[in-house]
Amino acid sequence: MSIKYIFITGGVVSSLGKGLTAASIALLLEKQGLNVAMLKLDPYLNVDPGTMNPFQHGEVYVTDDGAETDLDLGHYFRYTHSPLSKASNATSGQIYDTVIKRERKGDYLGKTVQVIPHITNEIKSRITQCSQQQPNIDVVFVEIGGTVGDIESLPFLEALRQFKHENHQDSIFIHLTYTPYLSAAGEIKTKPTQHSVQELRSIGIVPNIIVCRGEYELSKELKDKISLFCDVPREAVFDVVDVDDTIYEVPINLNEQNLDGLICNMLNIKKKKIDLKDWKKIVSVVKRPKGSVKVGIVGKYVQHQDAYKSVFESLEHAAISHGFEVEIERIESDKLFEKGAIKKIPKCDGYLIPGGFGERGWEGKIAMAKHCREKDIPYFGICLGMQVMVVEYARNVLGYEDANSTEIDSSTEHPVISLLSEQRTVRNLGGTMRLGAYPCKLKEKSRAAAAYKVSKISERHRHRYEVNNQYVDELEDNGLLFTGIFTKQKLCEIAEVKNHPWMLGAQFHPEFKSKPTCAHPLFGAFVQAMIGKKKKNMRKKNV
Ligand code: GLN
Repeated sequence: MSIKYIFITGGVVSSLGKGLTAASIALLLEKQGLNVAMLKLDPYLNVDPGTMNPFQHGEVYVTDDGAETDLDLGHYFRYTHSPLSKASNATSGQIYDTVIKRERKGDYLGKTVQVIPHITNEIKSRITQCSQQQPNIDVVFVEIGGTVGDIESLPFLEALRQFKHENHQDSIFIHLTYTPYLSAAGEIKTKPTQHSVQELRSIGIVPNIIVCRGEYELSKELKDKISLFCDVPREAVFDVVDVDDTIYEVPINLNEQNLDGLICNMLNIKKKKIDLKDWKKIVSVVKRPKGSVKVGIVGKYVQHQDAYKSVFESLEHAAISHGFEVEIERIESDKLFEKGAIKKIPKCDGYLIPGGFGERGWEGKIAMAKHCREKDIPYFGICLGMQVMVVEYARNVLGYEDANSTEIDSSTEHPVISLLSEQRTVRNLGGTMRLGAYPCKLKEKSRAAAAYKVSKISERHRHRYEVNNQYVDELEDNGLLFTGIFTKQKLCEIAEVKNHPWMLGAQFHPEFKSKPTCAHPLFGAFVQAMIGKKKKNMRKKNV
C-alpha cells in the first residue's frame, strides 16, 4: 500500500482542539491496524517554542531526540504510537532558517529564492521526512497550526495543496470548524463554517471531511446544509460536541459516527470493525470514580490552561489507574514565602511542584517543600521541583542557610544546585539545555525502584542546572537519598527523603511519557501515596 496523507486544518477560531482531534483520528486508524506518523506544522517564526513564555505558548513538549516542540505532540504521544522526534514538528522559523542557510551557502546557484517554490518545497520535504522516520509508516497526519485565513499559514496551505496534487489518490483534507450556538437566536450557526471553507477553496483546497466543534450536536438538517454549501458528501460531516466528563470520549464518539470507516473508504484502505474496550474502560472510571484525591500544583503559570498540560494529564492517568479521580488545586507560588502564607493554602492530599525557570516564586516553592517534609505530606518535585527539594533540605536539615541554586543566586556559598562546566560557556538560549532522553539506573529498595519495578529507565530532560556532586554524600548521610543516577556522568536524577511517606523529586520530566492507557509509574506512586494519606487522615478523624 502506498503511504496515505491526512491533512488537518482549522477554521473560524483557534483553540478548537485540533491536536486532540488529529490524535483521536490517528488512534482510530491505529486500531484499524495501520502505523501512523504525526507532523505538526506551526506558522510562527520562532525556530522552536523552547524560548517562548508559557503564557504565550503553553507547555514545551520534549521528544527522546531532544526536540523542544509544540504541546500537540503530547496529545499524539498520549493517543498513538507514532514515532515522535525532530521530524514531528516544524515551524516557519525552522523552514526559513533552513532555506536561508542554504541560500548563504550558494546552494541555489544564483536563483531568486522565493516562498514558492523554495519554502513550499522545504515544507513538502518535511512531510516526506516525517513519513520516513520508520520504514513501516502507513498514514502520515499533518496538522497545520493556526486558523485558515491567517497570512502566515499561507505557505503551508499552498505546500499541502501541491502535495495533494502530486499524491491525489492518497491524500485527504479534514477541516475542523466551529458551529456556535447563538442563544439570542436560539440556534446553531453554520455561516462561519461556510466562510472558512470558502477561504480554503479560494486557495485551491477542497476539504473532503468537515468536523464541527460546538456546544451542541448538529441536527440532520444542519448537517445537510453544511454538506450542500461546503460541497462535501453528507456522510462526511461530523460533530465533536463539548464533552462534559472527559476528552477520552472523543475517539469513541468519532468511531460511532464512522469517521474511521469513511477515511478508509476515501483512501482505499481495507477497513475492519475496531475495538475501543480500553478507552471505554477509561471513560467509565472517569464517570464513576470510586474516590477522589486533591493535589495542589504550585507554580508561576498555574492559571494558564496549557502551561503544565502533560502534568495535569499524567495526574489524571495515574488517578484513573487507581480507579480514582483527581481534583487539581492551582496554587500561585509568588506569595507563598510571606509569613503565614503556607498555613492559608488549600488543604490537599499532596503537592506537586512542576518544572520552571527563574527567581519568581522560588522562595514560595521552598516554603512549600519545607511544609510537606515537616508535615509528612506527599510531595512530587519535577525538574525545578526536585531542585527546590534539594535546596530546602540543604538549608533546613544541613543548616546551610544560604544554600541555593546558582540559577537563583550565583554567589551563594553553598551552591547545592549548579551548572555543569559544559553549560557555563553557553551563550545562545535556544536548544542548548540538557535535552531529550538519558538512561538512569535506580537504586535497589528505593521508592523509585518500587514504582518502576525495573532497575534501568530512560526519561526525558529539559534543564541546565544539576545537583552539585560535592554535596551528595553529606545530603545522603542526613537522609536525602539519590536513588536514580545517570552513571556515565554521575548525575543525580532522582532524590527521595528517607523518613517520609513519599517525598520524591525527578530531574527529568516523567509527564512526557504518561498515557491514559498506561499511567507513568512515578505519578502512579504519587497518587497511591495521596490515597494512603487521605485514608490515614480519615481514620484519625474517626478516632
Ligand atoms: N530552571 C531549571 C534548570 O534549568 C529547571 C528547568 C525545568 O524545570 N525544566 O535546571
